[in-house]
Amino acid sequence: MPKTSLDVNTIRKDFPILNREVNGKPLVYLDNAATSQTPQQVIDVIVDYYQNYNANIHRGVHALSQEATDKYEEARIKIQKHFNAEKSYEIILTSGTTHSINIVANGFSSLIKKGDEILVSAMEHHSNIVPWQMLCERTGAELKVIPMNQDGELLMEVYSELLSNKTKLVFCNHISNALGTINPIEEIIEKAHKVGAAVLIDGAQAAPHLVADVQKLDVDFYTISAHKVCGPTGVGMLYGKEEWLKKLPPYQGGGEMIAEVTFEKTTYADLPHKFEAGTPNICGGIAFGAALDYMNTIGFENIAAYEHELLVYATTELLKIDSLKIYGTAQQKTSVISFNIDGVHPYDIGSILDKLGIAVRTGHHCAQPIMDFYKIPGTVRASFSFYNTQEEVDALLAGVKRAKTMLL
Ligand SMILES: *Cc1c(COP(=O)(O)O)cnc(C)c1O
Repeated sequence: MPKTSLDVNTIRKDFPILNREVNGKPLVYLDNAATSQTPQQVIDVIVDYYQNYNANIHRGVHALSQEATDKYEEARIKIQKHFNAEKSYEIILTSGTTHSINIVANGFSSLIKKGDEILVSAMEHHSNIVPWQMLCERTGAELKVIPMNQDGELLMEVYSELLSNKTKLVFCNHISNALGTINPIEEIIEKAHKVGAAVLIDGAQAAPHLVADVQKLDVDFYTISAHKVCGPTGVGMLYGKEEWLKKLPPYQGGGEMIAEVTFEKTTYADLPHKFEAGTPNICGGIAFGAALDYMNTIGFENIAAYEHELLVYATTELLKIDSLKIYGTAQQKTSVISFNIDGVHPYDIGSILDKLGIAVRTGHHCAQPIMDFYKIPGTVRASFSFYNTQEEVDALLAGVKRAKTMLL
């Protein structure tokens, strides 16, 4: 494997968990598409918060509350800069991608009606299908699917044909968590805007590998989860253009999101607070900012180049194994490999790998329609991060070969 400028052995020292053993073997963590590991730099920020300035935000006049508020708002600005949003209040801090999508899906209830159409891609995560189905049930709008080919690439000609002045919303993931496909979102957004439709891009799987510039993309909504970019669980982002966030009604009622409350009428707070009812995940938000800092220090260009090397090496070597099939062979893809061995259930491969200390995901990866498309119950998915090594890929290859001999 050629060497990129990324020094993986130094980077690995930042991740204490990578030193542990599982079933008496060194941990080989290849489930990064489900959640990433957390570097010491981010763990330190979490500890510092609870040791030194834990307080509720935006409320108290006291020093701790002010400190926590400042740090929380600094994190929002870090996130804004990272995604190049025009205004910091276009960044809504949520509990994660699922929450972000539900805010939009719920908000659109009052903006669409029977006869309108919503387009979703065939390779969506369940969190990007179910809220739209619920929205269609509430409103009578129709859900239409942008199909894909055997390689796991969207059929863009069909997409163009599906678009019409009835289309009000288009939803697509930036990168598929089950197949690794990088979708042509620039084109998706541009074409949707020509018919006046809004676009939500689910960036949960893209954020660990590349940086989306929301202004350059001209995207209406973009969502991510912190736990996939070396941050903690339970916190994420909804980016929305100001004009859309102003149009959407709030999702939840509660403290923080109001300007004035009487029993007759409540007026809502300005952005971003309108969508941030209740006490948020304060520590999580601050750690989210620290996680982006950490990844930016390594550099997304270095990350992408290094992960691509791992992907190419792992793909080439896996395909040398007889009767192994990879699902998701798009031209443009990130370091996710979904595969099966003929005649073997993915779960059995996953269990044997686990005994060897190797963590992969098996099953439908919250994307059952993709599995139905390929007529399979699920796949084994190995997903690589910038802290994985070639030796770990070798451990996977050896493990898969061993599983094959045991199971066939
Ligand atoms: C992980 C993931 C989600 C869901 O994220 P949560 O953090 O569970 O809300 C949605 N879409 C994609 C593409 C994902 O990879």
